[in-house]
Amino acid sequence: MPANELVFAPLGGIGEIGMNLSIYGVGDGRRRQWLIVDCGVSFAEQEHLPGIDLILPDIRFLVEERRNIVGLVLTHAHEDHMGALIDLWPRLNVPLYATPFTAALFEARRLSEPGAPKIPVNVIPQGGHVELGPFTVDFINVAHSIPESNALAIRTPLGTVLHTGDWKIDPTPVIGAPTDEVKLTALGNDGVLALVGDSTNAIRDGRSPSETDVAKTLTELICNAPARVAVTTFASHVGRIRAVADAARKAGREVVPVGRAMLRVIQVARETGYLDGVQDFRDVESYGYLPPDKVLALCTGSQGESRAALARIAEDEHPEVTLTRGDRVIFSSRTIPGNEKAVYRVINGLVSQGVEVITDSTHLVHVSGHPRRDELRDMIRWVRPQILIPAHGEPLHLAEHAKLARAAGVPEVVTCRNGDLIRLGPGRPDVIDEVPSGRLYKDGSLLLSAEARTVASRRRLAFAGVVSVALALNDKGQLVADPELELVGIPEADAAGRSMTDIARDAIEEAFEALPKPRRRDPDEVAEAVRRAVRGAIAERWNKKPFCHVHVLVI
Ligand SMILES: [Zn+2]
Ligand SMILES: [Zn+2]
Repeated sequence: MPANELVFAPLGGIGEIGMNLSIYGVGDGRRRQWLIVDCGVSFAEQEHLPGIDLILPDIRFLVEERRNIVGLVLTHAHEDHMGALIDLWPRLNVPLYATPFTAALFEARRLSEPGAPKIPVNVIPQGGHVELGPFTVDFINVAHSIPESNALAIRTPLGTVLHTGDWKIDPTPVIGAPTDEVKLTALGNDGVLALVGDSTNAIRDGRSPSETDVAKTLTELICNAPARVAVTTFASHVGRIRAVADAARKAGREVVPVGRAMLRVIQVARETGYLDGVQDFRDVESYGYLPPDKVLALCTGSQGESRAALARIAEDEHPEVTLTRGDRVIFSSRTIPGNEKAVYRVINGLVSQGVEVITDSTHLVHVSGHPRRDELRDMIRWVRPQILIPAHGEPLHLAEHAKLARAAGVPEVVTCRNGDLIRLGPGRPDVIDEVPSGRLYKDGSLLLSAEARTVASRRRLAFAGVVSVALALNDKGQLVADPELELVGIPEADAAGRSMTDIARDAIEEAFEALPKPRRRDPDEVAEAVRRAVRGAIAERWNKKPFCHVHVLVI
C-alpha cells in the first residue's frame, strides 16, 4: 500500500438532495488527517417519518477520528450544507471556517435556537484561503441562490480537488459577482486531479436563465398588480429579496417582511452589505394601514410549511396580514419534491378566497441556483479534471452527470454511495473501503439513530391504533375486577354495528377462560394470551391489527 494517499468519502449528499457532508483525507490506512466540507440536514417527509423534523448525517466515524480532523469548511449557508452543525459540532469540537455572510447567518440561526451551544467560526474573506494541515483551501466565488456560495479548491501534496459546492453560471446575478471563470480556468491550467460536483440539474438541458430575467418578470407582475401583492420565496435568497424590493420601489409599494426566517436573513443581509441601497422595510404592524396598491408582503412559506406566514395568511389566520379577492400572490420559488401537497393546500386556500396565484409554471418568477447541462460542460472545460465524482443529487442526477462527464472527455468518472472511501491518488481512482455512515433523526430535542425502532413503531401506530388492557389478578390467578380497556385510533364499531370495545372485552374473557388454571397465575402468560386474542378479534372485524398493551397486576 502506498504510504501516502488522498482519499474522499461522502457521509451524506450522494443519492439524495440534502444532508451534504464530505470528507477528504491525506495519509495512509493507519493514520489520515481529515478535512470536512459542509455539515447539512435533510428535511423529513412527515408521511414517512411522522414527528421527525430533520435528518442529519451519522458522524460516528468523525467522532472517532476527531483528533485527526484539521477543520470543517462551509461552502455556503444553505441548510442542506450547514443545518446539522448546531446539533453535531459539539461532538466534534473542530475549527470551523466560513465566509462573512455564511458565518453571520449561522450565528443568527444559532441564536434563534434556545440553548444552542456557543460555536466559534473563523471568518475567511471572500476569495481568501486557509491552510489546514496538509490541505490548502481556496474559496472561489460561484453564483448560487444565496450570497457567498463558494467552490473550494483543495490543494494537497497529492493533487488538487475542486469541490464545487452549489453553483450555476449567471453572468448577471442580482447580488454578488458571477462565477469566477478566470480563477477556475487558472486552476485548470495548474492541473486538477478531481472535481466533486453539483449534479442537481444534470437532467436539464441548456443553461438556466439569469436572476436578472426573474427580476424583470417580478417587476412587471408587481407593477401591474391591481391590489395587494404578496411574494413568497426562500428566506435565504437575498438576491431575490433585493429583486422584489427593487420592483416594489418601482411600483410605489412598501415592503413588509413577514415570517421570522425572512426577518433574520434580512437583518444579516443588511449587516453584511447585501441590501446596501435598498429602501427600509416596514413593520408587519403597518400592513393593515397601507392602501392595497401601496403594499407588498414578502413572506416565508413557499414550501407550504403549515406554521409559516403564507399558510397562515391562506387560512386567514394571520393576525396582521390578510388577503382578499383581487389580490395577487407570487410564488417566486420552486416546490421541493415531497412538498407538493402542502404547497397545493396553500395555493387552493388562496384561490378559494379569490386571490390570484402566480407560480413558475406560467411565469419566469424563479430560476434554480444549480447548473444545467451546458453549464456542467463549461465547468469541465475550465477545470479539465482527471477524475470527476458526481455529488449533490439523486441517483438519476448522478448517473446523468457521470454520462455527461464521460462524453465531455473526463478520463475517470467515479460514481459512489454515502460511506464509500475513494482513493483519488496516487494511481487510478477506486473505492477502497467503506466508512461508517448513516442517518440520525432529530426528534423533538433528541437525536435518534435511524435504525432505532422509535419512528417505525410511531408510523405503525399512526396506521393501526392501540388497545390498552389492564387486568387485576389475585395470587390464585382469579380476576378480581372487570378488565379495564381503552381503544385509541380504532373504529368504534364493526360493519355489523357491534362495539369494538365489547369485541375486545369478550376476547379478553374468552382468552382468560381458555387458559388452564395453573397458567393463570403467571402474569406474563396471561398478558400474552390476552394480547393475541384482542389483536386477533379486532383484526377479524377490521382487517387491520392494532397494537395491544396488556398490564397484569397481581394483588
Ligand atoms: Zn445551496
Ligand atoms: Zn445544496
